[in-house]
Amino acid sequence: MSVAEKISSVRANIRRRDPDQKEFLQAVDEVFESLTPVFEKDPGYLEAFERLVEPERQIVFRVPWIDDKGVQQVNRGFRVQMSSALGPYKGGLRFHPTVNLSVIKFLAFEQTFKNSLTTLMMGAGKGGSDFQPRGRSDREVMAFCQSFMTELYRHIGADTDVPAGDINVGGREIGYLFGQYKRMANNFTGVLTGKDLRWGGSLIRPEATGYGCVYFAKNYLEHKGESLKGKRCVISGSGNVAQYTAEKLLQLGAIPITFSDSNGYVHEPNGFTQEQIDHVMELKNVKRVRISEYCAFSETAQYFPGKKPWEVLADLAFPSATQNEIDQDDAEMLVSNGVTGVFEGANMPSTNEAIEIYKKSNVMFGPAKAANAGGVAVSGLEMAQNSQRLQWTREEVDSQLEKIMKDIFNDSLAAAQKYNLKDDIQAGANIAGFLKVADSMIHQGCV
Ligand code: GLU
Repeated sequence: MSVAEKISSVRANIRRRDPDQKEFLQAVDEVFESLTPVFEKDPGYLEAFERLVEPERQIVFRVPWIDDKGVQQVNRGFRVQMSSALGPYKGGLRFHPTVNLSVIKFLAFEQTFKNSLTTLMMGAGKGGSDFQPRGRSDREVMAFCQSFMTELYRHIGADTDVPAGDINVGGREIGYLFGQYKRMANNFTGVLTGKDLRWGGSLIRPEATGYGCVYFAKNYLEHKGESLKGKRCVISGSGNVAQYTAEKLLQLGAIPITFSDSNGYVHEPNGFTQEQIDHVMELKNVKRVRISEYCAFSETAQYFPGKKPWEVLADLAFPSATQNEIDQDDAEMLVSNGVTGVFEGANMPSTNEAIEIYKKSNVMFGPAKAANAGGVAVSGLEMAQNSQRLQWTREEVDSQLEKIMKDIFNDSLAAAQKYNLKDDIQAGANIAGFLKVADSMIHQGCV
């Protein structure tokens, strides 16, 4: 069989097994494309890839709980343990009605490359549920989290699988999940990351994904002889990633001008000040209301219902909401509005067609698995602190995060150059992330 035939047979097997998992297949296609030069040079890597796309273990479970009206609710829980080649399975939990096995598998697959790029010893996994915390009371969220962990606890552990947050799983949910783990396992360990500072959390963990994404953008811009100073930045989302992306952009002299949620976006034409960003944090993290409420706080802000922020004139874009939030039309709009760089804070926010547009238009593209790796990187640092039973300073964690993001950019660039792909950071990130996992799998035998 020629290499091309082998590639198409592996591709066909993946599709045959999971023909309906569209998000998972999209993520696999994107990586497959970039790895083709690697497989052509060394066909042995194709076997490692074929093993890698099949999760080591997939757990699907029932999550029953009682709501405030005394009525039973039933949700579905997931944990996909994708790869333990580099360390314990590691990756977040997402609570959202769109969660299904395909979504969790694509996230776990992406996590494999991302965690490898961080340079830390972390395998990859992802989990979650189709539960929607929005509109639920604290007691209901607690009841759900306790039921979810009552099953999950037997599958995880500080040296086995270490979950964290993702969409709709923040400090409150991690607290309830940790409490139930401790009760079920009778064990106080660093089994989750994103913990509260008083009981094992790390400084900078809440900020890490957003700050890391901006550090990544800074490195990319510097490589092109540019800087963040004065750049107008459109941000989507208004959760943890979006909030700290805006904060770090402001600190480094850029101008964050939008936040959004699934109902619409808010445009602050002169850029958000720190006080205004703090207000967004208060609205989203404490009051848990819609971003449209922000307009009551600012005379200059405008709210655009039912719209995405990509229609605003800008220099850089930071998609920080969810998968496939930039399709081909959105990407064309971004380019025609002057955007020259897209840095993905969310996981897979750009469709493969959108990525094609960036490439054709010479847009700097920071793919999610490189640009948003800061979150899981600081989770790795939280695990290290838990093992030492110590807490590092803010400066120590932040400077390690900055260094990791710089290394991720440089390693991705070096991998692209090694395969004559110039400065194709997307391909470079996939290649660098893959080679470390694949070599480790090969060393550990066919298991
Ligand atoms: N959910 C985040 C991500 O997509 C963080 C995962 C973690 O900290 O384990 O990378």
